[in-house]
Amino acid sequence: MAWLSGLGAKGSCMTDYDEHSTTGGGFAVTSAGRAGAFTPEQFGEEHLKYYQAAAEFSRNQVEPRAEDIDHKKPEVLRELMQQAADLGFFLVEVPEEYGGMALDKATSMLIAEALSPVGSFAVTYGAHTGIGTLPLVYYGTGEQRSRYLERLASGELMASYCLSEPSSGSDALAAKTTATLSADGKHYVLNGTKAWITNGGFADLYTVFAQLVDGDSLKFSAFLIERKTPGVSIGKEERKLGIRGSSTTLVILDNVKVPVENLLGEVGRGHKIAFNILNIGRWKLGIGSVGAAKYALGEGVRYAKERVQFKRPISEFGLIRQKIATSAQLIYAGESMAYRTAGLVDAATAKLDKSDPEYFKKAINIIEEYTIEASILKVFCSDALAFVVDEMLQVHGGNGYTEDYTVERLFRDARIMRIFEGTNEVNRLLIPATLLKRALQGRLPLLEFAEQTKKELSGPGRLPTRGTGPMADEARASELAKRAVVYCASYAATKYLDALKNKQRVLGELADAIAHLYGMDSVIARAERITQAHGEDDELTKVHCALASLYCFEARASIFQSLQRIAMMISEDDELDLLYERLGKLDQRYRVDVMGLQERVAEYILQNDGYKLSH
Ligand SMILES: Cc1cc2nc3c(=O)[nH]c(=O)nc-3n(C[C@H](O)[C@H](O)[C@H](O)COP(=O)(O)OP(=O)(O)OC[C@H]3O[C@@H](n4cnc5c(N)ncnc54)[C@H](O)[C@@H]3O)c2cc1C
Repeated sequence: MAWLSGLGAKGSCMTDYDEHSTTGGGFAVTSAGRAGAFTPEQFGEEHLKYYQAAAEFSRNQVEPRAEDIDHKKPEVLRELMQQAADLGFFLVEVPEEYGGMALDKATSMLIAEALSPVGSFAVTYGAHTGIGTLPLVYYGTGEQRSRYLERLASGELMASYCLSEPSSGSDALAAKTTATLSADGKHYVLNGTKAWITNGGFADLYTVFAQLVDGDSLKFSAFLIERKTPGVSIGKEERKLGIRGSSTTLVILDNVKVPVENLLGEVGRGHKIAFNILNIGRWKLGIGSVGAAKYALGEGVRYAKERVQFKRPISEFGLIRQKIATSAQLIYAGESMAYRTAGLVDAATAKLDKSDPEYFKKAINIIEEYTIEASILKVFCSDALAFVVDEMLQVHGGNGYTEDYTVERLFRDARIMRIFEGTNEVNRLLIPATLLKRALQGRLPLLEFAEQTKKELSGPGRLPTRGTGPMADEARASELAKRAVVYCASYAATKYLDALKNKQRVLGELADAIAHLYGMDSVIARAERITQAHGEDDELTKVHCALASLYCFEARASIFQSLQRIAMMISEDDELDLLYERLGKLDQRYRVDVMGLQERVAEYILQNDGYKLSH
């Protein structure tokens, strides 16, 4: 079926969209702050125990050896990985019957956050325990899991995920590596070159994606390949801008005979494995970016307090305090979105019966449900990290430009986050495309919500009004912004139908606007929850509300800027006035004490030597 043909055909008369609060993408149509928002304040002792253990390991073992790791001193990285394995950090997502702990996604994200300060280690750990091991967890047969999982979880074997090739990165399904069944039907013969493989230099087990040649057709499929298999060879280590201590190599397959038992999942379903595993990678990349941004902010704050210019610590200057506050508000938004997504996935997964033979299939369907959120986390948090490391380097002045200060490494390490696990461009395209596809499938009442918006705009007093509480203005702004984004999205979709997929500039603007909707919704829910728990006058509540308010102020402005650009791009002259008039009614400003709130946030961050708002 064409991508968007048929859009607008559905016409249910839904009025209560809050029932979509736990649907993937449901935040776009539900009341502000209501959509099933789990917040970091809800972590229990168990969660925090894992976070603290991982943070301690990072602080005491990994961070002091960051330079040795990046200079690829022999065995430092492998030693640290083995230590991490011995401490149980490889067991987190491995099922119990294979010696694992089968913990929830929130725990795995907390650990990813805690291990984020040294990019080379974080990427090595993430590639092994995440994209390296999880294909087997979710798609392996019992026999395949028995063969490998326990050894992967103990650190005896290391894993890699091999999707990219020299000529196919973003266009991963255009891979040229082939797999051909042997005449006796006992093995597949694989030929091709996989590129940019993290852990490539030392992994023992590769999940390789290839085109299975079946007569005239090619069926994208996944295979488990042991490094020691004849015909497997490894290219030289890439010399990289950042994450220099991680291993990145070609993996070359020359007539590699892979037993048929090592086909992973079903023939022709490799794309499902590739993309669903990447979804999990995207959440972790998102929260890893948040963790690295917190670490960079800590470095910047420490320096700003010590560095004296014009007889004052530079931390007293308004422009430095602004950098600190703006960085913190982005971290707050990213953190709120990331753990909310983990909460949604974990709540749905907790309802599954672990003894159900279909358990892993159902669990992966839940992960697929939150594809939109996964791409939002990937894009938003990696962009936020780029901003934070840049600003914190600036806080260091000339010193930040030298290798003597950690922020120089953080700046370089951050750059990869916008490139791998699907570039930010590719993920931006996915966000509105998936949202609109869900509307077409009748899974999200986007078009009905757009119709409702049109009605609300046609008469006075029909739009949402201001409620009460410290987040009242932000909640109303969020409600109005949702209407504006959904209205513009459905306007563009109805106008271009299938051709919208080629209007990348429109989709890119929509993606940013949708990401900000999720951000606004998540910070409002969190600040409201804190307010309920501690009261409006509590000092910590005030910091939460300041962060939420500052972020919403910027997000709202950014959303309407994006929508104005979209209006320019998609409307003829006679349509533009109508579009602008409608957007204008939804673009209602309110007063925010930006300077006062930034001061409150900067003061809190400076006093606490960093972002110490959550765990
Ligand atoms: C350090 C490192 C580690 C990596 N680890 C792994 C790994 O473990 N396993 C693995 O399989 N891969 C890995 N990768 C590969 C990574 O996933 C790819 O580099 C990434 O997907 C981009 O592909 P590409 O480099 O071929 O760029 P291209 O796809 O050629 O893209 C180039 C530019 O064009 C843009 N672009 C491409 N298509 C479109 C489009 N349709 N619309 C708009 N813009 C577009 C991209 O966003 C990008 O800006 C790693 C890469 C690096 C650098």
